[in-house]
Amino acid sequence: MILFPPEGRPHDDILETMQSFRENDADFKNGRTWSLVYQLNREHDAFIKKTHNLYFSENALNPMAFKSLKRFEHEVVQMTAGLLNGDEQVVGTMTSGGTESCLLPVLAYRERARSKRRWKGLAPEMIAPETIHVAWDKAAKYFNVKMVKIPLKEDFTVDVDVLKKKINGNTILIVASAPSYPHGVIDPIKDIGRVASEKNIPFHVDSCLGGFFLPFMEKAGYRVPEFDFRCEGVTSISADVHKYGFGAKGASVVLYKSMAYLRHQFFIHPGWPGGVFASPALLGTRPGGPIAAAWAAMNSLGMNGYCEMAKGVMETTQKLTAGINAVDGLKILGKPVMSVFAYGSTDKKVGIFAVGDIMEDRGWHVDRLQRPEGLHAMVTPAHEAVADQYLSDLREAVERVKADPGLSSRGNAALYGMIAQVPFRGLIKKEVGKMMEKMYGPKGEMPMDHQGKESFAVRMGACALNFLSKWTSGLRRR
Ligand SMILES: *Cc1c(COP(=O)(O)O)cnc(C)c1O
Repeated sequence: MILFPPEGRPHDDILETMQSFRENDADFKNGRTWSLVYQLNREHDAFIKKTHNLYFSENALNPMAFKSLKRFEHEVVQMTAGLLNGDEQVVGTMTSGGTESCLLPVLAYRERARSKRRWKGLAPEMIAPETIHVAWDKAAKYFNVKMVKIPLKEDFTVDVDVLKKKINGNTILIVASAPSYPHGVIDPIKDIGRVASEKNIPFHVDSCLGGFFLPFMEKAGYRVPEFDFRCEGVTSISADVHKYGFGAKGASVVLYKSMAYLRHQFFIHPGWPGGVFASPALLGTRPGGPIAAAWAAMNSLGMNGYCEMAKGVMETTQKLTAGINAVDGLKILGKPVMSVFAYGSTDKKVGIFAVGDIMEDRGWHVDRLQRPEGLHAMVTPAHEAVADQYLSDLREAVERVKADPGLSSRGNAALYGMIAQVPFRGLIKKEVGKMMEKMYGPKGEMPMDHQGKESFAVRMGACALNFLSKWTSGLRRR
């Protein structure tokens, strides 16, 4: 048990200890991570920290008390609405991040559907592509809405014909991505919008990743399919400031076509002994820092600054994707539009997870995809300096796997491979659940792999293997 310190320690001492805890963290400062951290440059970072700290104590829970925060939030919402080609009617709120910007629309559209159909039962359903961000599954679970998943076409975008057929009287919402997190491809927003409009069903575009990137790309002269409020039928959009908006973490925007939708997101409770309570979003206490920093990021960079960022990131992305496609045995999955992409193997001898293991040994923090198997990358300005190194490490990794295809059936690769293929999702879920109980249990144990590094999947795989072998031996006995 970790005991509560009986006495305090000097600040310097604490700061030193905190630094030492960082030793095994992912190395984002040298462009080694391909997710999780978005940094523009040192100068911007230092500035954003300042603006965040300026509002370290303020609380947006009560907008009457901190009018400055209300103003920042309003201006961020308005600027984002304009960026995404909304008209004067568009309204919205800031949230703590992409997940909250996905949770809230599900709640709002469910409440809206209920208010419209008070006279008869509703078993709410929402329709989404298989590649929709998992935050929407979380929303479906939290708010008791049935999730109906639509298969993809060859190009990893959703099949609109199938989607159309799944609409029924219980459908409260259609969601699609611009772009999708796994493959960075944009669903056919215009076509879905037409269907949604025809059937009079709300349509949310999850642009958490693209909301603060695609518009700048377009202005910088790249071809970008229309994905925002310009498309008929789109009723709401989410966009994360803490991704390509380069604000502080804990900032996203959710926008609705009009107050007719947003009003269903509000929570108002007049009878509480603590006072009449009204809240626009999920949180109670809302940190002021991320709201202030979002405003500061937009005002300091301006359209020009963001366009320049988008151009630079796209140049690095094009270098990387061309480099990867040029490797015999690898190919980019689908046609990614912006700076997020995945790649897989075209050669049976090249196990992509074995390639991932070698990259990890070289210090790259690798994200793996399943169904189909692949490696994932989200390009930021930090990657310009390391793109060549990444490509050369990747070429070598592929050569090594080709020379020794057995690597795919050893180490992490074997386990990830099995997890990606095992048909028993329920089993994986159970084993991961056990792991989480350990991690969040009284001992707070981290799963460790052979190198002593944290590795979530290893334990997960080991548990699943263990269970599988027990299960199959059980079958044999029978
Ligand atoms: C990141 C992301 C989310 C979730 O956002 P968090 O900020 O991680 O909570 C949702 N949808 C998409 C498309 C995303 O990229």
